[in-house]
Amino acid sequence: MNSPKTPGASAEQLANRAVQPRGPAMAKRLVDAGLATMAPDRARVRMVEGLRSMGVRDAQVLEAMQTVPRHVFVEDGLASRAYEDSALPIGFGQTISKPSTVARMLELVLEGMSPERRSAAHGLEIGTGCGYQAAVLAQMIGDVVSIERLRELHEQARSNLRPFRQPNLRLVYGDGRLGAQSAAPFDVVVVAAAADAIADPWLLQLKVGGRLIAPVKFGQGQVLQLVERSAQDQWQLTSLDAVRFVPLKAGTR
Ligand code: SAH
Repeated sequence: MNSPKTPGASAEQLANRAVQPRGPAMAKRLVDAGLATMAPDRARVRMVEGLRSMGVRDAQVLEAMQTVPRHVFVEDGLASRAYEDSALPIGFGQTISKPSTVARMLELVLEGMSPERRSAAHGLEIGTGCGYQAAVLAQMIGDVVSIERLRELHEQARSNLRPFRQPNLRLVYGDGRLGAQSAAPFDVVVVAAAADAIADPWLLQLKVGGRLIAPVKFGQGQVLQLVERSAQDQWQLTSLDAVRFVPLKAGTR
């Protein structure tokens, strides 16, 4: 993998460091989570093997998910379940997406992008939540801006991500329906909450050749939509898998 662009500790070092007991709090966390017997790095290897067997092929996606310690992003009491393929609560009625969904979305949005283009790519995530997907994406592309509308979660993500010191990841508190005009245009846009429809600012803030992936409401359910901006005034939309995300909401709180 070419990235991460981290002058300090690499995410891999941090991942390993994260499984070392750091005083009583961390030791307690390991015992609580039952991770004293099943080291998180081994659990993560198993998670990635599972992703591979589910058909995830993108080597960078697999490597990034092998590197970022998902257990650091979930509540202490749920750390033992961090490497199961399930969505988990992160507070405030929100969830961390399940690993196979994160992998699928990132694989789709980065598909066909050369390693050179990836390492220079400019990305936007709508819906930071706990910060996990943003951290994974920032392993693979040049830089990422991630927006969250709930102040508490924005702060929580900031604190979850602090030890990783990923200088190419910037968290913004705001309404992601507007995108991030000041940082546009983007090569990659990943939306992590279900919209009624793809918002115009996201389409306009996409580079020509750029790709966007978003869960969009469809009947009683939701469907993943992939959009490629094929020309200045042309966007190609493909509807893919049925999914279940928390709703995209208006305004900040
Ligand atoms: N990316 C996360 C998933 C977060 S869940 C992960 O790594 O798993 C979706 C998040 O989108 C929630 O935190 C929710 O508060 C946020 N959200 C919903 N509407 C939003 C909006 N308009 N702007 C920014 N964030 C929004």
